[in-house]
Amino acid sequence: KGSDGKYTVTLIEGDGIGPEIAQSVKDIYSAANVPIKWEPVDVTPTLKDGKTVIPDEAIDSVTRNYVALKGPLATPVGKGHVSLNLTLRRTFNLFANVRPCKSIAGYKTPYDNVNTVLIRENTEGEYSGIEHVVVDGVVQSIKLITREASERVLRFAFQYAQDVGKPKVRVVHKATIMKMSDGLFLNLARDIAKEYPNVEFDAEMLDNTCLKMVTDPIPYNDKVLVMPNLYGDILSDLCAGLIGGLGLTPSGNIGDECSIFEAVHGSAPDIAGKGLANPTALLLSSIMMLQHMGLTQNASSIEQAIFKTLAEGKALTGDLGGKAKTHEYADAIISNLKA
Ligand code: NAD
Repeated sequence: KGSDGKYTVTLIEGDGIGPEIAQSVKDIYSAANVPIKWEPVDVTPTLKDGKTVIPDEAIDSVTRNYVALKGPLATPVGKGHVSLNLTLRRTFNLFANVRPCKSIAGYKTPYDNVNTVLIRENTEGEYSGIEHVVVDGVVQSIKLITREASERVLRFAFQYAQDVGKPKVRVVHKATIMKMSDGLFLNLARDIAKEYPNVEFDAEMLDNTCLKMVTDPIPYNDKVLVMPNLYGDILSDLCAGLIGGLGLTPSGNIGDECSIFEAVHGSAPDIAGKGLANPTALLLSSIMMLQHMGLTQNASSIEQAIFKTLAEGKALTGDLGGKAKTHEYADAIISNLKA
């Protein structure tokens, strides 16, 4: 917090629709008088000792400010530099990815009252990036599960459940097939559960979770789901589908020191620069950020204005069936802040 009473937060606007949706956040925050000063940084990768790295200024900014809000970063497929998102997660050791999915009144989906929280291990598993050719035509990819990273994310999940008042933690796994790797994750969960006697613990196979989640998600409302990296990646998008898609779902990448909050969707190159993007996911990510920073009053007033605007349905963006431009939707939220 600076001498002006404001907190400085790193802002990574990102690619494609990133700058447009970041503008909505900036406009709404300034209308709501949120005590935040944005520090925009560029994360275009540079080469250092033959490795792709994030510029030092960006790293210094996040390290100094502890919190960052991030727009989508475009990743080239299959070749070129490693995903910048992965690099950010590794650089700041953002070990837990928190993905809440809450039904939005006014946006009709097959289920009402969905309120799930999924926590994904964010640093290893199938995303360890260890792949090699054994012989021509045979490629091996290593799923890395360590006690250290597993315990860290599991303990975070139990603590999170306790903090937000969800009574249960459920591990999602495939320990029947990945007996050693998922087996380790599951066994560590059983151990850590003993540290949290007030939180109920159980486990479920990933395929079964998928089936049950799309059949009836409501029984998952009282649980925090925690799982290895790839399962979390897939299942969290499935959950997003239950409430209306990626335009509406926020996320937080939590580390021991720094945390980066970001929308789940990508840079949407098909609609970039046209003023058509829906900023809700980035806005809701910023609300998670405000809660994380203890600015709960600001968080709830902006959140209410967002939900009110969505429920009114008068200024919705194209992805939600409306005709509003990004800034018209943001303006409607600003009027509802004052209402
Ligand atoms: P995408 O999420 O960018 O787009 C998928 C579809 O959803 C598109 O039709 C797009 O127009 C729509 N969409 C996404 N966000 C929207 C929004 N806020 N409002 C309205 N419509 C929205 O996925 P993609 O096309 O697979 O990926 C594009 C690029 O983004 C790729 O380079 C990818 O690597 C990157 N990406 C980045 C992140 C991230 O930074 N966290 C996440 C996913 C993808």
